[in-house]
Parts: sequence; structure tokens; C-alpha cells
Amino acid sequence: VARGRLARPGGRLAVGIDLGGTTLNGLLVGEDGGLLARRRRATPKAEGAEAVLAAVRDMAAELLAEAHALKDSAAGAPALASREIIGLGFGIPGPVDAERGVCLFSPNLGWRDLDVASYFRQAFDLPVCVDNDVRAATLGEAWLGAGRPYRTFICLTVGTGIGAGVMLDGRLWRGPGSCAGEIGHIPIDMRPDAPLCGCGRRGCLEAVASGTAIAREAGMSSAREVADAARRGDAGAIAVLERAAAFLGLGISAAITLYNPEAVVVGGGVAGAWDLIGPVVRRTVEERTFPPNLAGLRGIFPAALGQDAGAVGAASLVLAPGVAQVEGASP
Ligand SMILES: [Zn+2]
Repeated sequence: VARGRLARPGGRLAVGIDLGGTTLNGLLVGEDGGLLARRRRATPKAEGAEAVLAAVRDMAAELLAEAHALKDSAAGAPALASREIIGLGFGIPGPVDAERGVCLFSPNLGWRDLDVASYFRQAFDLPVCVDNDVRAATLGEAWLGAGRPYRTFICLTVGTGIGAGVMLDGRLWRGPGSCAGEIGHIPIDMRPDAPLCGCGRRGCLEAVASGTAIAREAGMSSAREVADAARRGDAGAIAVLERAAAFLGLGISAAITLYNPEAVVVGGGVAGAWDLIGPVVRRTVEERTFPPNLAGLRGIFPAALGQDAGAVGAASLVLAPGVAQVEGASP
């Protein structure tokens, strides 16, 4: 099944919004993969769950207005004027029932059992798709990014937390409970005093290798600051990053052994320090992975879409259903 760009000028349009715990990132996306407009703002998390929902609605309205402006300005060009706005897609941090479009739980946004799809369907009278943010980023990388050449790959997002999306033979595997790919909660540090994870367990991969863990271990305010210090030659910062990268390599090694992917794609804020962590991740995977599984692996790559992966993937939920088909959901 061919996937990827459909080079049809004047094709369909969709809005994709990635609802991060820190930033809302919205894009107007064409079915040819063109990014036609963007909006970005801080998530008004402190103002409560309703305020976040309202901010997302406003952002979607602005992007839809841009889409209509594009159509109007192209009135003399039938191919552009015929562009059709076919829907909105949303990526949400936390488990999502993608079939119903319901956010099951999002500690980051303060949402629980929230029917996101119905809310936006009523607001805009357009089709709406909702999925988990990391799964959306995986679909974005599958459609237009580093995952394009592969039918089976794993996409990790390493930022405030760690998550993954699993593409199996061209389909995103969500799992019957919508929790497939929660690689951040693989137990990896078995010391009794291992760092506490946000999930309540100790020693999860996320507790030792996320941006949050890197900043905490280095006694700095962000992983970016640690990376900057490492690039200036700060030995302490380098040691913290290399240790986190080694843990990340162990988690990736477990995933490779389990799924036998052709590639692993690493995105998220921490992937911005790929020059520092990439070599350690690759070396750890080479040293620790069951050799027959390594033989099928074409590589471990940084994500190609950067911060846009989630919003592109959210738009692909409506624009490229072949890529985004709900798989592993309960019948
Ligand atoms: Zn955990």
C-alpha cells in the first residue's frame, strides 16, 4: 500500500493540533504534505482544563479562518479554490480512546474521560479525530518524516516524559487498552532508591532518561541547559547526558528485541541533543541487543519533523487514513 504524499494540487486540507503540556502547536496541512499556516502558544495549564480547551478551540478557529482565506484568495485559480477543509485532528498527552475520540486521562492537561471529539465536532461541524500525542507524532514521522521508508518502526519521543509509537507493517499499533508503546514505564533501574516516576513506580526509563530526569540529575533547570553545558565541555553535564543516553539505549534495545523493527526514530526535545546522546544510544544498542534482532535494524535516526511531528500526525488522522487507520482497538 502506497503511503505518503499525494501530489494533487488543490487537494484537501486539515487542521492538526498537538496539545503539549507546555505548548500548543497547530498547523494547517494539505494532503500533499504542505504546511500552509501555523499557530503556537503556551498551554494555559494553570488556568484550568476549560481554559486549555478554549485556547485549543480558538487556535483551531484561527487556522480554519486561514484555510478559508487561502480559498478566497485563490478564487481565480480553480485548483486552489476547490480545496476542501475535511476536518480536524488532535494529539493529546495521555491515553486516548482513538475510536471514540475520548481522552481517558491527561495529568498534563487536567483532563479525565473528556469527550474531545464531540466538543470540537459541535464547535466546528467538521469531522474530528483524536489520538495520543506520541502516537500522533509517530504517524507524522510515518507520513512525512524519518519513518517514511519503513513499514515497521518505533518512534520514541523523549522530552518531559518518554513515550513511543509502534508502527507494525504499516499500521499504528495502539493496543486494546490504547496503551501500547508506553516505553517510558519500562522498569530499568532496579535499585531500591531508584528515582520515582510520575506513574508512582520507581526506576522507570522515564525517571532516569527523560528531559526532566536529565535536568534533575545535573541540578539544572532544563535538559537544553544541560546540553549547552555539555557542548561547552562541562564534564558533569556530559556524564549526566551519557548516563541518560545509555539508559535510553537499553530501553530501545528492549523494544528492538520485542518488535524486530527496521528502524528506530527518536524525537522530542531531548532529540535536540542528538549530537551528544546519539552515539551513546547507538553504541549501547549495538552492545546490548540480541544479535539476530540487530541484523534486521537499518538504523536509529533522529526524527525529521522536529516539533511539528505531533501536529502533522494529528492532521494525518483525517488526511491520510491509510497511515492512521485505527488498529488494535476493541471492535
Ligand atoms: Zn513510570
